[in-house]
Amino acid sequence: METNSSGEDCCVKVAVHIRPLIGDERIQGCKDCVTVQPGKPQVQIGTHSFTFDHVYGSSGSPSTAMYEECVAPLVDGLFQGYNATVLAYGQTGSGKTYTMGTSLKDGVHTGLIPKAMSALFSKIEMLKHEIEFQLNVSFIEIHKEEVRDLLDPGSTHRQEIAANGNTAKVTSPGKPLIQIRETSNGVITLAGSTECGVKTLKEMADCLEQGSLSRATGSTNMNNQSSRSHAIFTITVEQMRKLHPGNPNDSNYNDCMTEEYLCAKLHLVDLAGSERAKRTGSDGLRFKEGVHINKGLLALGNVISALGDDKKRKEGVHVPYRDSKLTRLLQDSLGGNSRTVMIACISPADINAEETLNTLKYANRAR
Ligand code: ADP
Ligand code: MG
Repeated sequence: METNSSGEDCCVKVAVHIRPLIGDERIQGCKDCVTVQPGKPQVQIGTHSFTFDHVYGSSGSPSTAMYEECVAPLVDGLFQGYNATVLAYGQTGSGKTYTMGTSLKDGVHTGLIPKAMSALFSKIEMLKHEIEFQLNVSFIEIHKEEVRDLLDPGSTHRQEIAANGNTAKVTSPGKPLIQIRETSNGVITLAGSTECGVKTLKEMADCLEQGSLSRATGSTNMNNQSSRSHAIFTITVEQMRKLHPGNPNDSNYNDCMTEEYLCAKLHLVDLAGSERAKRTGSDGLRFKEGVHINKGLLALGNVISALGDDKKRKEGVHVPYRDSKLTRLLQDSLGGNSRTVMIACISPADINAEETLNTLKYANRAR
């Protein structure tokens, strides 16, 4: 048994999502090599067995249960001011984009992001009489340790120039590179990225769609970049609760009216493919990309493992957030008071067994 103990209050929850065999795999005659213990959050592959917080199998539609158990508590927490992160991890083709709902062709209704967005707006609808809300979204991509704005067509242009064979660092005039900054009180901000203020679910969904489209376009231009980049959709919720300690009939009523301000953000992350970079051929650029992707996933694994280890946490062990752009960006939403869910996506096909085992090992380390 490859399990390790995790405290009830562990700040990182890990779920596994097993997709069904897909067309290609069926045509190749692949066999299902992953089994789930009925009624237990346990996955078996070969002689290995792993236990997680939740396992969602390939039969039926697990998306509602997955949303309710893994993401709904994080969306609720936003209203109490807790930051949160949902990470989809797994090899390319394992169902990360489908699970998150960042693809336009599928997952639009079943994915976790669309579900989180509609839950958020239903909640706001109920509270809007007492609380004033301001919602912002950003959608960025980290590729080769560089941050690209998916909501700004200008940065797509920049990337197309680069794809035409010139240097990779062509910057369109007037468009500074996006930088990750930390304020004196530990809040991480993205300088230079588009923050879209949204008022309705439709407006938020439009941002998701626009960014997804921009990502898809980029990937055809750049060697399927999307499988080697991390896409991060961030919803920031600002709340201003009006408090009325005084009597509205008093002449000094306006003076005693105070406000309570809360701000929290939810990062929804479609991570780069976890498969090891193919080091075939003498393509130096490709090699470099592989190294960089590994850097983000490697750093994330180290951060999450440091956070999940109660003993290490109590000893105040250093959490290596600064080792990659990805972990730096997520720093104020991983650990501390924030809530994190990792969804390890796997294919059940025997041809993917080795990568599936790697994914389960990585996810197991996070517990
Ligand atoms: P990734 O983002 O990890 O590369 P995708 O989300 O693009 O993987 O999924 C790969 C393929 O598998 C897609 O064709 C997608 O439609 C299909 N797929 C993924 N998850 C599921 C699922 N739970 N049910 C049915 N099809 C799925
Ligand atoms: Mg994908």
